[in-house]
Amino acid sequence: MTREISPNRKGAYYGGTALVIFGVLLFASTFVTFAAGFGDSHHFAPGPSSMMLRPLVGMGFIVVGGILRSIGARGLAGSGVLLDPSQARKDLEPYTRMAGGMLQDALEETDLTKAKGDAEPVVMIKCRACGKLNEEDSKFCQECGKAL
Ligand SMILES: [Zn+2]
Repeated sequence: MTREISPNRKGAYYGGTALVIFGVLLFASTFVTFAAGFGDSHHFAPGPSSMMLRPLVGMGFIVVGGILRSIGARGLAGSGVLLDPSQARKDLEPYTRMAGGMLQDALEETDLTKAKGDAEPVVMIKCRACGKLNEEDSKFCQECGKAL
């Protein structure tokens, strides 16, 4: 079983990313030129319809680029282009491993897993005045302010 993503898929992924970026820029440029008020529409596509055409073409690039990225990341079968469950699993394997690894990294950042992994028991001091449980190293009660 291959654990690495093939160069073809990497190419599709980065090519797709470039298309998305290009599409976003094209889409955004419509509003920039519109706001700036200059009609340099003839640079891209001649005719009065270019103002309408540009965001459409930009969106087309974003959609096609997004599909390419998804195919690159998940493989042809993994992204649902080919209906082949066993191939899909193989295609998705490096991707899910990557996603799982990133999730693990993110979880390790949080106190949630840190607290879970901590074998040390939490020691609390009970306030003699009000009975509130306070942290071990606190000098005064959180509830009533009395010295512990
Ligand atoms: Zn207290």
